[in-house]
Amino acid sequence: MHGLMMDRPLLISQIIDHAARYHGDAPIVSVETTGGITRTNYAQARARAVKLASALSKRGMGRSDRIATLAWNNHRHFELYYAISGNGQVCHTVNPRLFPEQLAYIMNHAEDRMLFFDRTFVPLVNGLREHLKTVEAFVLMEGHDDELAGEHDWLEFYDEFLATGDDDHRWPDDLDERDASSLCYTSGTTGNPKGVLYSHRSTLIHAMMSATPDVMNFSARDCLLPVVPMFHVNAWGSPYAATMVGAKLVFPGPNLDGVSLTRLFNDEQVTVSAGVPTIWAGLLAHLASSGEKLETLKRTIVGGSACPPAMIDKFRDDHGVEVLHAWGMTELSPLGTVNNLKNKHYAMSEAEQNAVRITAGRPPFGIELGVFDDDAKQLPNDGETQGDLYCRGHWVLQDYYSEGEPALREGWFPTGDVATIDPDGYMAIRDRSKDIIKSGGEWISTVDLENLAMAHPDVADAAVIAAAHDKWDERPLLIVVPKQGAQVAQDDLLGFYDGKVAKWWIPDAVQIVDEIPRNATGKVRKNVLRETYGDVLKQAG
Ligand code: ADP
Repeated sequence: MHGLMMDRPLLISQIIDHAARYHGDAPIVSVETTGGITRTNYAQARARAVKLASALSKRGMGRSDRIATLAWNNHRHFELYYAISGNGQVCHTVNPRLFPEQLAYIMNHAEDRMLFFDRTFVPLVNGLREHLKTVEAFVLMEGHDDELAGEHDWLEFYDEFLATGDDDHRWPDDLDERDASSLCYTSGTTGNPKGVLYSHRSTLIHAMMSATPDVMNFSARDCLLPVVPMFHVNAWGSPYAATMVGAKLVFPGPNLDGVSLTRLFNDEQVTVSAGVPTIWAGLLAHLASSGEKLETLKRTIVGGSACPPAMIDKFRDDHGVEVLHAWGMTELSPLGTVNNLKNKHYAMSEAEQNAVRITAGRPPFGIELGVFDDDAKQLPNDGETQGDLYCRGHWVLQDYYSEGEPALREGWFPTGDVATIDPDGYMAIRDRSKDIIKSGGEWISTVDLENLAMAHPDVADAAVIAAAHDKWDERPLLIVVPKQGAQVAQDDLLGFYDGKVAKWWIPDAVQIVDEIPRNATGKVRKNVLRETYGDVLKQAG
């Protein structure tokens, strides 16, 4: 016997409909790529998204056609999210920080039919155009500009395209909640990027869970400024989750430097944010030198790479901001775990509490995690046994888009991370499996060594890699960017590890560099570091 409750599909258009209906006047503030600020609200955003959807239909965009964006976080990008998915097409957010060859590969693989992009990317798109085999229309996300139109006759303008739509367009009424809604490619450090194709259903369940108190904790009383780009796993789903609850939204556009962000945070009274550690390191350095404070920010979600514990402390001690350390992947929409304590932790000593706080947190309902050995045998969740991290759940991928290889192993998605899980589900990432150091048969976590180095007062950035070693196969090598003006000595840096890790974990040597190479989503490119420095210990004998 089936239950007798309404069987309404979960659809992305319902999020913006709800926000327009019950939070119509909640502000959406957007920094324009060309400068200046645009202020709209959910009612206006919905009206424009519906009209845009109509324009897409009139242009002949059919069910499940892919439409790409190359854009910053701004109100037009937000409208596109809802217009494209709401209208039954697939919103393909492309990361402009990828190499041009990767961009062309991704857009050809996805067979995108239209491309919407910001002014910053006109030269990039102009260079890419002849390599994009399926894109029929290139739309600049602005009003008409005579000069640009004169220079580039292939350009269309968003506001003119929008004007071709009808105000009274209706969302299609035959969408299935399992229909594809949006598409993101993994950053592809090795091999070609792979497509992760989200559904309306996975997106809505992910958004509903993300908003809850032990996850991102969004409410109608919040003001969210997503620093994480809308091309980085849909800004971690925040434009869906925050809209669902009617929070005020602030889009920072292209200006992600410390000065611009601090002004925007304080002027717009932002209460919650989200971003990768590198962005926050830049902001904290700016605040330390300018003496400014984050006046209204209460919490920020930090993930994408390990958040150094020193950053958690700095946010709390200097700015009263709570860091919610999170772990995720493109394949997980992206949310896997978020660090929020349980009641029992508050009764523990500060040291015990901190040991929990620095983990990547625990999975919310909808995500199941496990650690496995090489033979795919599940290991215990005892907080100590480390193994390959596998995952399954309502918003975890089943298969990559248009790839031959199966993505799952016995129903689980192997994440490529090595982790421990404690009995409460708190998961600690030890490493990417390809980055972990195997020294004389024992494993050393580069994440732990990097976190400690980042706590050194003279260190601005740090990475640890496995360097080849004649006796031990691999030994840790510490690579460090000193803070501006600081003098760092190898002995001092290595001495900093004394008493904090086992003696045999202490790196063998230090390389001082000007910059640590990072990929399009802010992750350290360890393969590049290994190519450059992987043999230095060998040469040294
Ligand atoms: P994203 O697009 O979000 O960067 P990717 O799928 O490219 O996601 O990368 C996911 C990987 O990023 C994870 O498998 C993990 O190695 C790393 N990562 C994400 N969050 C954390 C974290 N909090 N701590 C350590 N590593 C993390």
